[in-house]
Amino acid sequence: MPTETFEFQVEARQLLQLMIHSVYSNKDVFLRELVSNASDALDKLRLAALRDDTLDADVSDLHIELEIDKDARTLTVRDNGIGMSYDEVGQLIGTIANSGTAEFLRELREAQDTAGAEGLIGQFGVGFYSGFMVADEVTLLTRRAGEQRGTRWTSRGEGTYTLDAVDDAPQGTSVTLHLKPADPDNQLHDYTSVWTIKEIVKRYSDFITWPIRLVGEAGEDDEAAGPETLNSMKALWARSRDEVSDEEYHELYKHISHDWRDPLETIQLQAEGTFEYQALLFVPSHAPHDLFNQNFKRGLQLYVKRVFIMDDCEELLPPYLRFVKGVVDAQDLSLNVSREILQQDRHIRMMQRRLTKKVLSSVKSMMTGEAERYATFWREFGAVLKEGLVTDPDNRDAVLAVTSFATTHGDDGTVTLKQYVERMPDGQDDIYYITGESRESIDNSPHMEAFRERGIEVLLLTDPVDEVWVDAVGEYEGKRLRSITKGEIDLAARGDDTSEDDREKRAEEYAGLLGWMRERLEEDIKEVRLSTRLTVSPACLVADANDLTPALENMYRAMGQ
Ligand code: ADP
Ligand code: MG
Repeated sequence: MPTETFEFQVEARQLLQLMIHSVYSNKDVFLRELVSNASDALDKLRLAALRDDTLDADVSDLHIELEIDKDARTLTVRDNGIGMSYDEVGQLIGTIANSGTAEFLRELREAQDTAGAEGLIGQFGVGFYSGFMVADEVTLLTRRAGEQRGTRWTSRGEGTYTLDAVDDAPQGTSVTLHLKPADPDNQLHDYTSVWTIKEIVKRYSDFITWPIRLVGEAGEDDEAAGPETLNSMKALWARSRDEVSDEEYHELYKHISHDWRDPLETIQLQAEGTFEYQALLFVPSHAPHDLFNQNFKRGLQLYVKRVFIMDDCEELLPPYLRFVKGVVDAQDLSLNVSREILQQDRHIRMMQRRLTKKVLSSVKSMMTGEAERYATFWREFGAVLKEGLVTDPDNRDAVLAVTSFATTHGDDGTVTLKQYVERMPDGQDDIYYITGESRESIDNSPHMEAFRERGIEVLLLTDPVDEVWVDAVGEYEGKRLRSITKGEIDLAARGDDTSEDDREKRAEEYAGLLGWMRERLEEDIKEVRLSTRLTVSPACLVADANDLTPALENMYRAMGQ
């Protein structure tokens, strides 16, 4: 088969341009990305071999190799993992499958500063392309385990790439970078330096569970010892917290999450006893753009006795904690465990319960001990967490305890239900809230007038889920949650100076007007009442206590119900 030349997909080309003109200042991370891919490929092969014993693959010495050629100025990252077929190379390397990429590129163009751009890039797996930050040409040679023929992919990152079929490729993938000249002023280090490479591997990839070996001349200082292994391969989740630095945790997070930024919070759990497991969980510092998409990929990585079993294991955490990333390593599951089995497994359910409580309790300690960090957490993930108030009755109190609300009162404008109730004045029995699509629409609502006038605290709820959980929860410590836009709200008891007599008199006085209005508006409304809730606006619409609010009506309509 002759060499074929292809064009990169438009989005891919744009990303490549970004890499070449490197918006990302720390270029060393290209190695982390290539090692991370190699590690994934080894995980996949081990798993494939485990599932299919007819697979014609060599799994006897799975590892990653780094080879430096100073004369040719190349660095090669090689693995003997799953590899890719000819078609797969085109699909996986020539295009960007991530549907959010178009959106990402738009945001990126809008990001004014490089720091913003770096942050954005971190959200999208541009892993393989990061090689073009340090190389002006990249060659990838690969053969899929079990297949005969291999494929060579070459590109200078400038719009096209070529594919060749190759007869004698070894199993797995090797990526050869033709390095640009070192330019320390631009963070472009000398990647033909053994010392530099060792340092980068130690810093970013130490925890990788496969050996990363330095081969060739560079790795053979002592011939008898064979190639040198650069990483310690220690599973971070199995080590105690004081043995591991934050940086090490953060690198593991980046490897499993494909996020380039540090996580907000690291949570460790080691369960002992009859069903032993270790978990290392991370709360990201930013919500991913597709968190509310139907097909958002959620779940943790599952290991069994240090062997990677699957990504996106959904059974380990409930959907309202879908932003949590991490690893769970169970001692007593079968290596052959399938998704079907996981869904039934009693131990998995126990793990889910325990992990859920652990996450909620860490949020709780953030809230009590680190207000700023909690504020970030809440801004990014509050709207998701509140789904738990509806979907997880068992943990409702724990979720409610870490939930905060925008409010009309208070110094920083947020409040918990506990605080709200504590500062409720005598005579107030209910917790008042208003829901709406935005803060602005709430602020302009005529329903707010009487509350503002009387200085009564109102919770300001603007997330779609707010409409739902307030009904599900109903009350807090015996105080009813009451919408200020529904039903009759008697504010007379609280500082309203009109007496019972006055009100009766006024009702008589306006009976004619009310009757006339009722007749005229018969088609559209149930009733016309004199109100104590308005101070400036002449009239407002009020729903019955059991009616859907307009926002909820919209939401149901949007869901097609
Ligand atoms: P990501 O790792 O986030 O999926 P990358 O750009 O790093 O994105 O890689 C794209 C895809 O190319 C990977 O998902 C994988 O399918 C394939 N790939 C990359 N490197 C290798 C490799 N060394 N072995 C096998 N497949 C690989
Ligand atoms: Mg990758």
